[in-house]
Amino acid sequence: MSRAILALALVATAPAVAAEPAPAAAANHPLEFIDTSFENASPLWYDFAPDGTVLVHLLYDHERSSPNRAAGHIHFQLQAKPGSTLTLEFTNLDNVWNGVSGSVARELKAVVISENGRDWKSVSLESLPTNRVRLHVEMPGPRLYVARVEPYRLSDLDRFLASIRSDPLVQITPIGKTVQGRELEIVRVGNPRAPFRVFLRARAHAWEPGGNWVVEGLVHRLLKNDADAKKYLERYCVYILPMANKDGVALGRTRFNLEGKDLNRDWDKPADPILSPENFALEQWLEKMIKADQTPNLALELHNDGNGLLHVSRPPVPELPRYLERMATLEELLRKHTWFTEGSTKESFRNAGTLGEGWLERFHIDAAVHEFNCNWIAGLKDHPSARHWQDYGEKLATVFYEYFGSIKP
Ligand SMILES: [Zn+2]
Repeated sequence: MSRAILALALVATAPAVAAEPAPAAAANHPLEFIDTSFENASPLWYDFAPDGTVLVHLLYDHERSSPNRAAGHIHFQLQAKPGSTLTLEFTNLDNVWNGVSGSVARELKAVVISENGRDWKSVSLESLPTNRVRLHVEMPGPRLYVARVEPYRLSDLDRFLASIRSDPLVQITPIGKTVQGRELEIVRVGNPRAPFRVFLRARAHAWEPGGNWVVEGLVHRLLKNDADAKKYLERYCVYILPMANKDGVALGRTRFNLEGKDLNRDWDKPADPILSPENFALEQWLEKMIKADQTPNLALELHNDGNGLLHVSRPPVPELPRYLERMATLEELLRKHTWFTEGSTKESFRNAGTLGEGWLERFHIDAAVHEFNCNWIAGLKDHPSARHWQDYGEKLATVFYEYFGSIKP
């Protein structure tokens, strides 16, 4: 295009853009602002539909060299006239997962709201056609937080680690850094000479805080210093990577690390130290443990989704029968000692590259992904809350005790 024609084209289009009227709905709207400036807030933009509905456009995060993208982390503060009723509609829920389009709208059934960012209550969402969901809220005061599930921020982890750091049963060891240089740590609880070791990782996916509350519950139970805690720790020692995707949590991302890598993928091969430093650090730690004859006997990768299943992958490995038998034992104990009722994945299930499948394939460790349903806890007939997940973590102490009691070192 010549310069003259380009200039003409600009003249022709510019007035049309300038003349587009601002939606009248915004003028006297009770919503003053949506604040996303704080820790773990979800990046988004918003505008107003003619009927006054606030259209909240969540931003996707994208996977490197992949069609995969994810939105669905929700955490922001509404600032609006007290007593006013707001209708919010969430868009951009068209995620791509394992290369397949799939809207997260089907999984998104509830959010939580809070005036102070500490005490939350669940609110159901209304499902709309074309992959949108709607929220109706009344403003109890000038400010109201809205989140997908009760948030667990980096500052919550820091507070938790500070509260247990001086306990003689706890050792917190730095193992490496995230893409943005945040320190990753392994929290050891108990005696490393105990006959069994269990490893847990939480928060590979930034939007999924349930695992962090579970970890808190488990650690608090083991540090109670009563007869049961002593009995548990004589049998097993716990190793935890409490927040794998710290950068994503800090910045309010949904799934991937800041290099666009999914930290619950690629475990079928050695970790990339540049693109997935979070996994590389963990892999180095694991290899040291294996060399020191301290291989974890069980590894659980903790997640949130809309189903809450135990993911038992079936890669073609010789130890598969042993693995399946032990996972059946684990499931039985979860049903017996916790509110778990969701069950495990079907026989045809595989999810290649997850920590569950990859650690079994490469390191012969009995490993599984444990999802926690973020909409509903069927076993309690209640909405999930931090308190419920902490309670689950406390009960895991007994589950591990009996699980290791059922297998030979
Ligand atoms: Zn996940």
